[in-house]
Amino acid sequence: MAILVVDDSPTNIRVLQAMLGAANMGPVVSATCATEAFNTLGVGKEAPHISGIDVVLMDVMMPDIDGIEAVQVIRKCDHLFDIPIIMVTALTDTAYLQSAFDAGASDYITKPINRMELMARLRATLRLKHEMDRRRERERQLLEVQAELETVNNRLRLLSSRDGLTGVANRRCFDETLDVESRRAYRGTRNIQGAHPLSLILFDVDHFKAFNDAYGHPAGDDCLRKVAAALQSCVRRPGDLVARYGGEEFAVILPDTNAEGAAQVAEKMRAAVEALGIAHKMSSVGQVVTLSGGHATISTEPAEKLVVAADRALYSAKHNGRNRVYAGTLAATNA
Ligand code: GH3
Ligand code: MG
Ligand code: MG
Repeated sequence: MAILVVDDSPTNIRVLQAMLGAANMGPVVSATCATEAFNTLGVGKEAPHISGIDVVLMDVMMPDIDGIEAVQVIRKCDHLFDIPIIMVTALTDTAYLQSAFDAGASDYITKPINRMELMARLRATLRLKHEMDRRRERERQLLEVQAELETVNNRLRLLSSRDGLTGVANRRCFDETLDVESRRAYRGTRNIQGAHPLSLILFDVDHFKAFNDAYGHPAGDDCLRKVAAALQSCVRRPGDLVARYGGEEFAVILPDTNAEGAAQVAEKMRAAVEALGIAHKMSSVGQVVTLSGGHATISTEPAEKLVVAADRALYSAKHNGRNRVYAGTLAATNA
């Protein structure tokens, strides 16, 4: 615990030093003017700056910068805003005390200094300071733990929303997102017809069972990973979501996207997967892995209708030769 004594009178400094030394309080550092005190305290330095000073005994009357002005300057400094400052004042100067407290002084003692009073005030001030330091340290630790928890929670949230094999969104995330987005589309479209259409594309890998049979399950897994990455690379907007819907089925949620936009994205994705050129000698479609897709669009209709319509379109695409995307119509669903 270090004490800084600021007084323009060397005699006063010596008296205080002697008293503090006799009481085993210290070390004591002194300054004969405010500027010297500012240097010792690191006024003007960026926080966190550690001056090593725990308490300041500040003379009120000093030439140039007086004690009150000095307190104002010290308090403006980020790392010194709560350092205890005890004003040392002649009895005749007590009129200044109010301004000292206004400036941020913690306490005061009067000259001539009474040893017992000095020790009592110093001890009380330091107890308060240490308690505040302890609290601040606890707060800091709590904030640290809170930040760590948040990081872990974010990681967990991410993990629980990702598909383990492909890294795209999992079915749970798909269901939640579709629910949120269909409500948003409904709200947005209630006033202006078709203002916020929501589109969905469902894809299914063609003849994937035969692929597994021909190349093995690990190759099948690898193929799914590549297909997922290709689909993901085709979406640009932050709200778009590519998800693994089931075994070799993928779903793409496209908020604020009309049927024409969905058709474009669906075709782009189909072509991107075909362009991967993953050999599939058992496919009836061609020599490489392909997808069939179905898409549909809603504005105020329920999400179930969207899924049914996209699924029916996918079914049609399968039955009309595969490696193609079809648009679904809501009217046909009767859902
Ligand atoms: P279609 O063109 O009509 O869609 O035929 P298909 O063979 O793709 O359809 P089917 O539903 O008969 O078979 C899907 C296959 O997908 C069966 C299953 O073994 C495979 N599959 C599902 N999930 C995975 C997976 O995680 N890894 C691998 N390697 N295969 C999977
Ligand atoms: Mg399937
Ligand atoms: Mg399939």
